[in-house]
Parts: sequence; structure tokens; C-alpha cells
Amino acid sequence: MTHTSLLFASVLFLGFVAALFLGSKVLPGRVRLGAALADGNRLPYKLNGLMLFVLTWLVVALGERFQLFSLSVIYTHFWSLLIVANVFSLAVSLLLWRAGRRQPDVEAATTSGRRRPARLRDFWYGVELNPRWFGVDLKMFSYRPSLIGLGLMVAAFAAVQYQRYGFISGRMWLFQAFWFLYLANYFQFEHGMLYTWDIIAERFGFMLIWGDYVVVPFFYSVAGWYLVDQVEPLPVAVGVGLVLLFLIGFILFRGANGQKHRYKMNPQAHIWGKPAETLGGRLLVSGFWGIGRKLNYTGELCLYFAIALTTGWVSIVPYLLPLWLTGLLVHRAGRDEQRCREKYGSLWNEYCQRARFRMFPYIY
Ligand code: NDP
Repeated sequence: MTHTSLLFASVLFLGFVAALFLGSKVLPGRVRLGAALADGNRLPYKLNGLMLFVLTWLVVALGERFQLFSLSVIYTHFWSLLIVANVFSLAVSLLLWRAGRRQPDVEAATTSGRRRPARLRDFWYGVELNPRWFGVDLKMFSYRPSLIGLGLMVAAFAAVQYQRYGFISGRMWLFQAFWFLYLANYFQFEHGMLYTWDIIAERFGFMLIWGDYVVVPFFYSVAGWYLVDQVEPLPVAVGVGLVLLFLIGFILFRGANGQKHRYKMNPQAHIWGKPAETLGGRLLVSGFWGIGRKLNYTGELCLYFAIALTTGWVSIVPYLLPLWLTGLLVHRAGRDEQRCREKYGSLWNEYCQRARFRMFPYIY
């Protein structure tokens, strides 16, 4: 790794994040109110992620078509980009930590009723819940460079394979298509993010920042390294099996999240053709939510396993992501249920009788 590579990677990375930030600020988009905060306020969010996603792909396609640049530079300068992303995450976290601690209301919140939390913990979990720069919410914004960056990283592997072999293998096509659908779906339903735990309850510190700018683009794409030189044809039956696994995952993930979202927005919403059925008017038991309590998590795992399986059995490394996510989501499902049991009391027990498993029938 040379100084030139590091300099190039810095320009590329900062230019990319800055362009998306500017786009988020100036491009038009629907404004939606987020979930109610503790003080009852609801913050406005401009949702133009889909436009930025489409524009980025347009720029990339034109650049490749007219040979102005190639996505393969992401592959060539991978290690430099990784270093720059880490330094960037650290710097933004420090800035936010300092800015947050200077705010009197945050200071009061962190000191009231208990000893002031350790600096390290503030740095790790963050101080402010919803920091904004130039009117752009940083927590919501950061999903854009994170996920669009992941998409570019994934596509870079296809660009490198094409340069080396003159074609793109079946496995690589599946890898590209799976990620593209997952990411396009995220941006199409970007508003759904406003109601997730991360946006509602997590402060914005190093943990989330590093996750957004380093873990997601650099680690989630890891299967690509194992696909670049795997160019032998993929057996049709395997291809069909992978597509089916992905589709099942997609239907569960998108379907369950969409049903809950629609119900929360409008308790009279129709689910699978009938008015939403509830327990006590508070817990949805129609659709996927009447079958299992966390089928959205199960669906997400199917998606990630389908992506890893495109690599076959060449290494355990591509499976580290779905395995890690399995641990994370199983743990999160337990924590979330604990919270729901406290919030809904006996109604939650009734719900558990109705939808008898969390993620996997007869297992969990
Ligand atoms: P959920 O979308 O499952 O939301 C859980 C909350 O929904 C509960 O706390 C409760 O909150 C409400 N709820 C649960 N059951 C019901 C019901 N039957 N009826 C009505 N409300 C109910 O979890 P997350 O926010 O954790 O996840 C959102 C998505 O993000 C998931 O699809 C998950 O897979 C994905 N995710 C992805 C990760 C990744 O790295 N790829 C990491 C983490 C999550 P309340 O009633 O208080 O509103």
C-alpha cells in the first residue's frame, strides 16, 4: 500500500460521502415525521435515498460505459479504503462525542440521577440521539453511504471478474442480483427505517458509525472475494435452490416488516385480504405475525445465507456474516421480547400462546 493509494482512497471516500451528503441536503424528497420522542416531538426526515441510489448507479453505468472510470478501483484500493473508512469513523465519532457533551440538555440527561457515564461508554454508544448537521439527520443519512457503498463494493467484484475473464459467472450474477434487490428494497421502503429500534432509541456513537461506514460495506460484501475467480458454471439445480431460498427470505422479511408497518400506520389496514386481527387492539396477530413472533428476522437470515451460498463451500469466511447475524438476531429477539413482555404484560403471554415460536418452528 503506497501513499498515493491512500491519498486516492481518501479523495474517493470523502468525495463519495460528501456527494451523498450534498445530495441528501439539496435534492427533493418526501418529508416524513419520525416516531414520537420522549418529549412527544416528532422530527422531520427528508427521504430521498432512493433518488440518490438511482443517481449513483446512473453515474456508475455512464462512467463504465464511456470508460471514464472503473469500479475495479474499489477492489484495487480496498485496503487503503478500509483504513480511510476507519479513520473517518473515528474522527466523526470524536466530533460528535465532543459536540454532544457540550450541549447542556445532554449534559443534564447524562448526569441526572446517576454518576456521569464513563467517557468511553459515551464515545462508544454516542451522546446525542438525533444529531443533525446542516439540517441533515446524521443517523438516518449514514445508511446511505453505508448501503450504497456496499452496493458499489459488491459491483466492483463483478467488474474485476469481467476484466480478468471477459464474462460474469452465474454465481457472480446471483450475488449481484441478490444484493441489488436487497438494497433497492431498502431504499424503496426507506421510511420503514424511521420506526426501527436504531433510529428511535439508539444514540449515534462509534458503535453505529463504525457499523455504517466500515462493517457494512467492507464486511457484508466479503463473499465477493471468493467469487471473483470462481468461473466454472453453476449447476442449474443449485442456482434454482439459491433463488428459492432468497425468495422465501425476501417474502418473509419484506412481508412481515410491511404488515407490521401498515398496521402501525393504520390499525384498520387489510392484511392478506382481511382486516387486521389484533389482541387487545395492540398486538397484530394477522399475517406472518400470527404464525411466528420474529419471522422478519428469519427471512433476513435466509437472504444472508442465500448470498453466502453463492460461493459454494470454498471457505468458511463468507458464512461468517450470516452466522454472526444469526447470533445477533437471536440475541436481539430475546431482548426485544423481554422489552415487549414488560410493555404488554399478560397480553404478551397471550400472544406467545397464539404465535408459538419466535424464529424457527419447534426450535426457537
Ligand atoms: P422488529 O421490526 O421486529 O420490531 C420489534 C418491535 O415491534 C417490538 O419491540 C414491538 O414494539 C413491535 N411488535 C412486536 N411484535 C408485534 C406485534 N405482533 N404486533 C405489533 N407490534 C409488535 O425489530 P427491529 O426493529 O429489531 O428490526 C427491524 C428490521 O431490521 C428487521 O427486519 C431485522 O431483520 C432488521 N435488522 C437488520 C440487521 C442487519 O444488520 N442486517 C440488524 C438488526 C435488524 P412496539 O409495540 O413497542 O412498537
